[in-house]
Amino acid sequence: MTALQVVWLRSDLRCYDNAALFEAMQQGPTIALFIATPKSWQQHDMAPVKQQLIRGRIEQMTQELTTIGVPLLAVEGSDYDSVLTVFTQLLSFNIAAVHCEVEYEQREQQRDAKVQQLLGEHGVKWCRYDRLCGFAPGSICTGDGGMYKVFTPFKRNWLQRYYQQGMTVLAKPKAQAELILPSLDLPVMQPAAELSSDWPVAEATVLERMRDFCQHKVRHYKAERDFPAIDATSMISPYLAIGLLSVRQCIKRLELEAAGQLQQADSGAATWLSELIWRDFYKHVLVAWPDLIKHQPFQPYTSAIRWSSDEALFSAWCEGRTGYPLVDAAMRQLNQTGWMHNRLRMVVASFLVKDLHLDWRWGERYFMSRLIDGDFAANNGGWQWAASTGTDAVPYFRIFNPVTQSKRFDPDGDFIRKFVPELANVPAKQIHWPHPVAAGCHYPAAIVDHAIARQRTLELYQDAKS
Ligand SMILES: Cc1cc2nc3c(=O)[nH]c(=O)nc-3n(C[C@H](O)[C@H](O)[C@H](O)COP(=O)(O)OP(=O)(O)OC[C@H]3O[C@@H](n4cnc5c(N)ncnc54)[C@H](O)[C@@H]3O)c2cc1C
Repeated sequence: MTALQVVWLRSDLRCYDNAALFEAMQQGPTIALFIATPKSWQQHDMAPVKQQLIRGRIEQMTQELTTIGVPLLAVEGSDYDSVLTVFTQLLSFNIAAVHCEVEYEQREQQRDAKVQQLLGEHGVKWCRYDRLCGFAPGSICTGDGGMYKVFTPFKRNWLQRYYQQGMTVLAKPKAQAELILPSLDLPVMQPAAELSSDWPVAEATVLERMRDFCQHKVRHYKAERDFPAIDATSMISPYLAIGLLSVRQCIKRLELEAAGQLQQADSGAATWLSELIWRDFYKHVLVAWPDLIKHQPFQPYTSAIRWSSDEALFSAWCEGRTGYPLVDAAMRQLNQTGWMHNRLRMVVASFLVKDLHLDWRWGERYFMSRLIDGDFAANNGGWQWAASTGTDAVPYFRIFNPVTQSKRFDPDGDFIRKFVPELANVPAKQIHWPHPVAAGCHYPAAIVDHAIARQRTLELYQDAKS
């Protein structure tokens, strides 16, 4: 039998634009491998809802791969050590090469180094592809070859490269002759316990959702994207997080559907592209400054900030009981759906750090444990931005007023009413600060006074600076 090519699926759970799958199938008969590692997922604080999405996607992908003749071996492991056990067993097959997409985080790099060594000892080739970003980390550099600390020049350089080189996506590979998977004594992956109908897992459905956004909604994206009551953003982040979609596919689709708009800097299409570039930026930052993965702030002086350790305040924030309606609605959206609108992520992150004076890492961790789109680089980048500890972060003295944010971005209170039913009957004018009229509503009193908290924040950062 010809030696097998193995595609090891991790953060690239798709058939289209999958370099590992594509290249493996060019080289010979291919099988796919997925190893569920719930113990490692837990160590990474991966939200149960994201774990279910991954399991559901693998079940679906098994069928999709069958249409191109590729059998998928989905194994139930535990932590990253179990990955080595699986590969040790797999070596009883005649394997020529293992192909996979890069993962940038530290533990994943360590896991890969061990697997690579094991394979090397048995003469099996290790082929890794770096296509998680539009342009691979390290390839968009300053004049002296370093990484940008500020987004705007990074974006300028990124766009220049994009207009010079374009963006290529790979086709779904052509079907190979049917291959029967040899049997192995390995536990079969447990199926998804339950899947939300909000997040379908079929590749065709998700590609259609993204196409629909690029064709229609993107036109209004710039004007409407900050209003959580409007369905104005693409809601593809969970799919980018598990690699059901690649960022290249999004950009290519945008090009096809909205080419005319892309060149206009203030268009919806250009604004959406900019958000996709933010995603690349944070991944590049993570690779350039690996200490970020060790929970270090990018701005060293902020290590000296004396954060509060008030767990009661933290619980109120987590549960959406702060007495600030927009903050509470946002946290309840996260707890109930596993997703939160970007404007609200900024508002609640600012509130945790600059109104409650709690360590941003508490919020970062809570987000990871709940988000269906949890992604280390974007989450860390977002939290360090809001806490003014990060690269190109908001200045520490810029402090969101949660009531003003509410009036501005949920003017009619529709979003608040959806997630804070206690306030369903409060008129729009009062809903942003309902306390004078909410006596019978059973809505919590405000846990802090924003004006006092703001002053304290300025002192905390100034103390740390000095
Ligand atoms: C505190 C905080 C934590 C965050 N945590 C995560 C996270 O764990 N995972 C995650 O994917 N995003 C995170 N974001 C970024 C952003 O909130 C989400 O990507 C966005 O809300 C997803 O919705 P969408 O797909 O409809 O986005 P759209 O507005 O349609 O944008 C399209 C895509 O661009 C990318 N993107 C958009 N905004 C950002 C951004 N600010 N930073 C990086 N990429 C961006 C995402 O991949 C998103 O799916 C965080 C932001 C903040 C402020």
